[in-house]
Amino acid sequence: MLEQMYDLSGKVAVVTGGSRGIGKAIALGLAEAGADILLNYSRSDKEADKVKKEIEKLGRKCVTVRANVGNFQQAQNIGKAAMNHFGKVDILVNNAGINRDRMLKRMTYEQWEEVIHTNLSSVFNCTKAVIDPLSKEGGVIVSVSSVIGEMGNIGQANYASTKAGIIGFTKTMARELAGSNVRVNAIAPGFVETDMLGTVPADIRETIKKDIPLGRFGTPEEIALATVYLCSPAASWITGVTLRINGGNYI
Ligand code: NAP
Repeated sequence: MLEQMYDLSGKVAVVTGGSRGIGKAIALGLAEAGADILLNYSRSDKEADKVKKEIEKLGRKCVTVRANVGNFQQAQNIGKAAMNHFGKVDILVNNAGINRDRMLKRMTYEQWEEVIHTNLSSVFNCTKAVIDPLSKEGGVIVSVSSVIGEMGNIGQANYASTKAGIIGFTKTMARELAGSNVRVNAIAPGFVETDMLGTVPADIRETIKKDIPLGRFGTPEEIALATVYLCSPAASWITGVTLRINGGNYI
C-alpha cells in the first residue's frame, strides 16, 4: 500500500529549471517514482542533455525544452511541447529561479525586473501554459519558494519579493483549482548546496550555517524527496500549504 502511494507511473511531469541543482534532483526523483519528464532550462544545453540521459537510464521518457520561463510566449511553448510529446500534463514543478543580490541602494531596475520575471512571472506563465490539460483529470502543482520569502534577507529585496509572491499565488491557485481536483502547494527550502549557494561569499555562507540548527546546508535530494511526496497520492489531502525544508533555519 505504501509503495503505491508514492507511485507516479504513467504520469507526465513538467519541471522548469531542471538542468542543474534542485530542479535536476526533482526531475530525477519524479522519474524514479515513475513519471515521464518534460525538462526545461534556459541556457545549459549540455547539463540538460546529461539529465535527460540519466532519466532515460531509469526507463522513463524525457523531452528537453530550452525556453526562458520569464517570457510568456516561450513558456507557452513548454506546455505545447508537453502536449505534442506526451498528450497530457499531470504535474508541474515551478522550480526555475535566479538571484541578483544587491543592497536596495545599489540594485538596478534591471536586476529587480530580471528576478521578478524569472522567479515570479514564470510561475504565472508556466501555470497558464499547462492549466487546461492539468485541470482535465486532476493534477498537482508544486512551486519552489524559499525560506527568504518568509524571513526576508539583506541584499535580496528582489528575490524575497518573488518567493513571498509564490506563496500568495499558491494559496490562491489552491482555492481556484480545488474544484478541478488540482492540488497546489509550495516548498520553501532553506540554504541548499547548489550553484546558487555558490554565489554567496564564503564568509557569509559560514555565518548562515551557524544559524541552521541541524548544522549543515541541505542537499538537492532532500528537497526532491519532499517534492515527490507532495506530487504523489500520499499527499492527496494536502493543498495550499508551503512546506518548509530548512534544517530548522525557520523555527
Ligand atoms: P541553480 O543551481 O542555479 O539552478 C537553476 C536552474 O534554473 C537551472 O537549471 C537553470 O538553467 C534554470 N533557469 C534559470 N533561469 C531560467 C529561465 N529564465 N528559464 C528557464 N530556466 C531557468 O539554482 P538552485 O539552487 O537549484 O535553485 C532552484 C530553485 O530553488 C530556485 O527557484 C531557487 O530560488 C530555489 N531555492 C534555492 C535555494 C538554495 O539554497 N539553493 C534555497 C531556496 C530556494 P539554465 O542554467 O539553463 O538557465
